Amino acid sequence: MEMHIALVPGDGIGPDIVKEAVKTIDKVAKVYGHTVSYREVDAGGVSIDKYKVPLTEDALQTAAESDAVLLGAVGGPKWDHVPGNLRPEKALLGLRSGLGLFCNLRPAVIYPELSDASPLKPSVISEGVDLLVVRELTGGIYFGEKGRSNDGKSAYDVMRYSVPEIERIARKAFEAARIRKKRVTVVDKANVLETSRLWRETVSEIAREYDDISLDFMYVDNASMQLVRDPKHFDVLLTENMFGDILSDEASMITGSIGMLASASLRDDKFGMYEPIHGSAPDIAGKNIANPIATILSAAMMFRYSFSLEDEAKAIENAVASALSDGIRTRDIAAEGEKAIGTTECGDEIIRRIG
Ligand code: NAD
Repeated sequence: MEMHIALVPGDGIGPDIVKEAVKTIDKVAKVYGHTVSYREVDAGGVSIDKYKVPLTEDALQTAAESDAVLLGAVGGPKWDHVPGNLRPEKALLGLRSGLGLFCNLRPAVIYPELSDASPLKPSVISEGVDLLVVRELTGGIYFGEKGRSNDGKSAYDVMRYSVPEIERIARKAFEAARIRKKRVTVVDKANVLETSRLWRETVSEIAREYDDISLDFMYVDNASMQLVRDPKHFDVLLTENMFGDILSDEASMITGSIGMLASASLRDDKFGMYEPIHGSAPDIAGKNIANPIATILSAAMMFRYSFSLEDEAKAIENAVASALSDGIRTRDIAAEGEKAIGTTECGDEIIRRIG
């Protein structure tokens, strides 16, 4: 297969970790016989320095012309004084909305070797955790009408969803479940919210197209408890924007290792943007100590969701798991007394285990 990837290294540790992900993609391409070309795109602080804006039209255009985007992270203290609408983080919003990405996927995996990092008791995570939060990204209360009364003494935010908005994200969740454990749990507040009731009806209708996938529903208050009580219960959690925002952070925290968590933002076709969930970690930038695994696992998601290459995705994930079980650790995931290696060396150890 021929793949055209836009690279957005960004700021801080962004360039260090994207470099390791590119090494990984190149190794996979070599082993499995694919051709990859890259175009680099400036976004975030680096773009502000060069062009005075966090994202130029040209940068967005280059990203839009690619098959998929791999992003490091943006932002840092150097740009803290920049006015709100020109901040580096605006580049992320610009890319997400400019590329029409409405579906956010966040896997939360607890590797047995790193279970000490989880704040949960060993008995709760002994059988491992591997769940995926599918969050609607462009609708709901964050984008609804909002305002204040004339006297400023009351305020409102409107939560609105349409059937097509729910249908398209539901399909993404069912398709993701199909290559996982084949279970979708819709998280909502259908005992109170009309939008949630519309979600239930619409997702139930879409479920008829996926009779190999089981579907259940859970109220969001219960889901937030079950995530820490029995996280292995879940496979795919499908939810609206605000609940997804909160639950995906909760799910991330139970793994305990921010340097390990990947994400994908998708739209109707195969196009997607892939990035670690952590930020630009300015405190450790350029020191060869950042953990590149979240970005490398984001590249695995790119193979899975944009190129439908499951074996290639698995090859990366297995290489990461094997490196971890052989004791490969960057500083952030090394236990006391354990030897830590650098960003580059960690990338080398992972690609050595592919093919
Ligand atoms: P952060 O995620 O950058 O860092 C939080 C802590 O985690 C730091 O101690 C950092 O050293 C550590 N850390 C993060 N990633 C790591 C990795 N790969 N390996 C090892 N340690 C890692 O969050 P922050 O400090 O709140 O934000 C720093 C900057 O990043 C800010 O400018 C913020 O706006 C920006 N940010 C960007 C994104 C993004 O680009 N998607 C997301 C969050 C924050």
